[in-house]
Amino acid sequence: MKDSYKREINYLRISVTDLCNLRCRYCMPEHGVEKFSHEKILSVEEIAEIASISAELGVKKIRLTGGEPLVRRGIIDICRKISEIPQIEELCITTNGMLLKQYAKELREAGVDRLNISIDTLQNEKYKDLTRCKISEHPVDDIFAGIEAAKKAGFENIKLNAVLIGGWNDDEITDFVELTKDNPYQIRFIELMPIGEAASWDKRSFLPNETVLEKAPELKAIGESGVAKLYQKEGYEGTIGLISPVNHHFCSQCNRLRLTADGKLKACLHSKKETPVKGLHGEELRATIANEISNKPENYDLGYDNPSSSMRNMNQIGG
Ligand code: SAM
Ligand code: SF4
Repeated sequence: MKDSYKREINYLRISVTDLCNLRCRYCMPEHGVEKFSHEKILSVEEIAEIASISAELGVKKIRLTGGEPLVRRGIIDICRKISEIPQIEELCITTNGMLLKQYAKELREAGVDRLNISIDTLQNEKYKDLTRCKISEHPVDDIFAGIEAAKKAGFENIKLNAVLIGGWNDDEITDFVELTKDNPYQIRFIELMPIGEAASWDKRSFLPNETVLEKAPELKAIGESGVAKLYQKEGYEGTIGLISPVNHHFCSQCNRLRLTADGKLKACLHSKKETPVKGLHGEELRATIANEISNKPENYDLGYDNPSSSMRNMNQIGG
């Protein structure tokens, strides 16, 4: 289904929980978030119904995110139910990878097509500091063990996401690029967005993605993949993707609709507007989703001086 600006809305991102086993400094408060009561959070069946009606309205791709989707009880059931929806061509998950080793095989068997794994630094100690990780002494090694398990389970085209943060990981850009030498990963640098926790961060943390090209001038442009501009170093197996939501807005190409764990539809990541769908079923649910698509805002002029108007932290929206 098209919105009023003739954009085809075919991609639904579902935050299946706002809880997480990490506390990334730019995403979540240190003390975590208050757990929604059982009645407030969408059930597996409700998520499946919303996904199914969205698919009838034209959604072809669904991404499960969070919080951390792999800590959601029933995640495998959710995957199975969504992958059985005939119109859904691609089911993806964005995960921090901490539990991937344990879940990779089940996720694949439940019909998940692709994985995006967030990893902002390749150094264990820095990772523990940035994510305030308390669950592993060697989290980066655990993520790579998860990636190996995912490959063994049959996942291909694994994407690694790194949020570029001035003073935290801009000194590792070439290390990330070198990781693509013998590995077919697409490593995507994402500009830090001024939203939630990060909205009050110092300007120096917000780097344009051009920084990657300055630090790795040997990268050659090779095309585009969705909202990412793709680059590659000659002779390297993998690629580098640059996603620039702050310095190069992609609102005119936006094909997304978002659903929060407590059942609110968001047609724009940065708008305050949210539409509750929890408790709606059948025709009423369909009409509400269709209306949300029709009324998707044209754009949002995100920038350091104009932070997101979304009232939520990213762990509640899912990125
Ligand atoms: N927990 C999972 C993970 O980290 O991959 C899924 C949820 S997380 C909110 C989804 C993505 O949003 C992650 O790649 C994370 O780095 C990114 N993210 C969170 N806050 C962000 C911000 N302020 N700017 C840019 N990306 C952000
Ligand atoms: Fe958790 Fe992902 Fe947010 Fe980090 S970015 S706190 S892993 S939800």
